[in-house]
Amino acid sequence: MKQIAILGSTGSIGTQTLDIVREQKDINVRALTAGKNIELLERQIREFRPELAAVWEEADAAKLRTMVRDLPVRIVSGMDGLIEAAVIPQADILVTAVVGMIGLRPTIAAIRAKKTIALANKETLVTAGHLIMPLAKEYGVRILPVDSEHSAIFQSLNGEDGNKIHKILLTASGGPFRGKTREELAHMQVEDALKHPNWSMGKKITIDSATMVNKGLEVMEAKWLFGTDLDRIQVVVQPQSVIHSMVEYEDGSIIAQLGTPDMRLPIQYALYYPERKPLSGQRLDFFALGSISFEKPDPDTFEGLRLAYEAAKRGGTMPTVFNAANERAVARFLDRKIKFLEITQIINECMQYCPYKEHPNTEEILETEKTVYEWIESRW
Ligand code: NDP
Repeated sequence: MKQIAILGSTGSIGTQTLDIVREQKDINVRALTAGKNIELLERQIREFRPELAAVWEEADAAKLRTMVRDLPVRIVSGMDGLIEAAVIPQADILVTAVVGMIGLRPTIAAIRAKKTIALANKETLVTAGHLIMPLAKEYGVRILPVDSEHSAIFQSLNGEDGNKIHKILLTASGGPFRGKTREELAHMQVEDALKHPNWSMGKKITIDSATMVNKGLEVMEAKWLFGTDLDRIQVVVQPQSVIHSMVEYEDGSIIAQLGTPDMRLPIQYALYYPERKPLSGQRLDFFALGSISFEKPDPDTFEGLRLAYEAAKRGGTMPTVFNAANERAVARFLDRKIKFLEITQIINECMQYCPYKEHPNTEEILETEKTVYEWIESRW
């Protein structure tokens, strides 16, 4: 039996991870964590019977304790609670499926506790890849990508040890606004941005797909996960989302991973790596698909991608500034307080005006996040 803990079990990745647990029947869930959704967390606790569950606010934890008082589960809260869940001794694998930089400390703690990390929470690598990757190496811990593109790259690298990567071809659907002009983007509403053509995901990442910030975050994630220079990571728009990414080797061979857009596949691959297991759901039907097309990304219209490359090139705290500014800007857009194009405008301003540090430690990264939040609060 596999033993897992899930950070963010009530979210899109978290619930799909539990779908796999339900289907495979050979995984024990030892800890679950949520932000605010205690009703769903209660149902998950009743179904999967973890020893520990965590929520963000102590007031919610108190309510949840009453709701599950008939069960032998301990309820904790706050960052200490998240960390306790991340390092629970009974689990071997930690699925990091929280959204945002909140995943940073628990992931570091889990690496120190020698847990295998099934990483969905890309913000951790984006902001602290320079700390996380050496730490994982030091503790002999495997970081297995859950993001579909990174899982595809990881699968395309299998059996190629020692062979030189010429290029990583990171595919992108182009999001709901592919082909639109900046004039058109200026009028896009929350509902339009939440209509992703192929993938069903959490709200924040769906908006990130519309701005192409998500692809920028993925470029940074790939850089750290695979130790690849930025100029060897090329974004290729592939609107049907069936090629999940590709690796080009020195000899010109390109190896790709294809499949239907179903996040359960990369999640399951990370949980069982290197084993492949049967998985229910639709299969890719090439004859129904007919064709696969490719386009160049448009970084002038979708500034999110251009700014991400800029932040990644600068390094240090700049990816944190990029990420934190985006988190706040997206929250404001979802609350209808700013317009769609103002998301990247805020990121751009923060990258210009927020203080910069070249080799930040964890505290400095978190301090940078706070500074960015305060800066946005004071101006927007
Ligand atoms: P969701 O918004 O659907 O879920 C986020 C999860 O984090 C929820 O369980 C939420 O709890 C929890 N959470 C939010 N705030 C806090 C907090 N303060 N303390 C503790 N938990 C908190 O996000 P996704 O599942 O879409 O994304 C999760 C991560 O995976 C992100 O980093 C994303 O970029 C990445 N990813 C997602 C993909 C997808 O298909 N969804 C694809 C590839 C990567 P609650 O809801 O209870 O408040």
